[in-house]
Amino acid sequence: MLEFFKKKQSGPIKTESEKRIKDFQEIYNDYTTQESIDQSSRCSQCGIPYCQIHCPLNNNIPDWLKYIAEDRLEEAYEISSATNAFPEVCGRVCPQDRLCEGNCVIEKAGFGSITIGSLEKHITETAWNNGWIKPITSDKNQNQKVAIIGSGPAGLAAATYLIEYGYEVEVFEKNDRIGGLMIYGIPNFKLDKLVVIRRSDWLKESGVIFHTNCEVGKDLSFEDLEKKFDAILISTGVYKARSLNLNTETVSNSIPALEYLIESNKVGLGDKPSRNSHLSAKNKKVIVIGGGDTAMDCVRTAVRQEASEVICLYRRNKENMPGSAREVTNAEQEGVKFKWLSVPSKIVQQKGIASSLVYKVAELGEVDESGRRSPVDTGIEETLKSDLIIEALGFQPENINEKFNTNLNLTGWGTIKVDFNKFQTSNPKVFAAGDIVRGASLVVWAIHDGREVAKTIKQFLENKKVKKAS
Ligand code: FAD
Ligand code: SF4
Ligand code: SF4
Repeated sequence: MLEFFKKKQSGPIKTESEKRIKDFQEIYNDYTTQESIDQSSRCSQCGIPYCQIHCPLNNNIPDWLKYIAEDRLEEAYEISSATNAFPEVCGRVCPQDRLCEGNCVIEKAGFGSITIGSLEKHITETAWNNGWIKPITSDKNQNQKVAIIGSGPAGLAAATYLIEYGYEVEVFEKNDRIGGLMIYGIPNFKLDKLVVIRRSDWLKESGVIFHTNCEVGKDLSFEDLEKKFDAILISTGVYKARSLNLNTETVSNSIPALEYLIESNKVGLGDKPSRNSHLSAKNKKVIVIGGGDTAMDCVRTAVRQEASEVICLYRRNKENMPGSAREVTNAEQEGVKFKWLSVPSKIVQQKGIASSLVYKVAELGEVDESGRRSPVDTGIEETLKSDLIIEALGFQPENINEKFNTNLNLTGWGTIKVDFNKFQTSNPKVFAAGDIVRGASLVVWAIHDGREVAKTIKQFLENKKVKKAS
């Protein structure tokens, strides 16, 4: 260990931009064994590991780095999977620059952080390749049933632990495929869909029962679930797109980001393309509005769909973007043009089709409630021609009580109100986790919530048994 003085930080090989924009394959390769040993041996085994403190799952990073450096990968996997239900997913999609790696002391000392995410992916891919990851078998049969609504990372993580605790677990998913935003939101070039399918197959083999194409509140009532199950977990995510106040609903070629990404992911998974031609960017001048990771996913998808030009419009500057710096760099390398400090103000349309977008040039003003400097109008207006406008402005929760005919306490933002230590709602039998309690967040937080809520559900069901017996 402590090799950071001698060995330079080196990430896994990244496919060159000219090549990678020709398909939707993941852009980062896996480490070789020697590379993983070299990179993990750079760790200084801190007494107070800031990497671990800043990982939402509190992963025991120094210990598994030591095992990789000693080429003891099976033990490394045991430790990494003890706290993380899907380490191969986090290794790929966590914004490590803001979490574990951004807080590594070696990074702070100017040597370049330990490449924790790529090493976590390496351990888990090795575990899969060597058959170390076996279906879960539980020697307990609790004779109690848990319903999970939504098969995103929060629901799947909870299912993993609940099945291990010996409960019967049924997952209800409105889509035709399992995985939530891991399957239909995040593009394949960041997270290969086979990685998600491998995990859902593994959960099926472990005994989790999935009901796809089953929307609770439509195909099945929440009340029915309450009657049939001992506990219910709501992990339905947030899907209501925020939009510009520019009458974009009056033009057919201005679409919400997720609609665009879902279509691209479906086509990638082998489905027939939709008849809505606005869902493809091929040969079009594309404008994506927004500065978060969803916006970066859209611009990079449009490049791969052979758009003639892709421009990202963001109202603040590069330093104040909410998205991961790594993703912005990837987009720039792939030919995306950025217009910083640009605030959309008007859509020019003919017969229901937007032909251009007018925007106001801004400058940076005072810091606002988000902690970033807010844009201030300079009075200058500019126009950009556009064939397709994609709005990537974030998501809000739908009205869950209306949907489920329930009366759960909600927050002012419309998310489900829970005690964050328990993830229990105002109905003691009903629990909630992931984006539906946090608002649009991260995969790693959803996995965290799934892990924690499984513990509380277990406690709740054990108490229920005791009460019944007494
Ligand atoms: P979701 O993943 O949204 O899953 C909810 C599931 O519930 C869905 O499958 C939905 O169909 C289902 N559902 C909803 N209502 C019902 C109902 N009534 N009945 C049955 N099923 C229902 N995070 C990262 O960490 N890294 C990234 O790179 C990243 N990229 C992203 C890119 C995009 C485009 C988007 C939109 C998000 C991204 N995120 C990323 C955020 C991350 O995907 C989410 O925070 C995470 O998926 C939330 O998990 P969840 O389980 O709470 O909800
Ligand atoms: Fe880093 Fe995410 Fe892995 Fe935690 S889960 S160690 S934040 S990559
Ligand atoms: Fe190793 Fe960096 Fe974590 Fe310290 S902070 S234990 S150097 S990975």
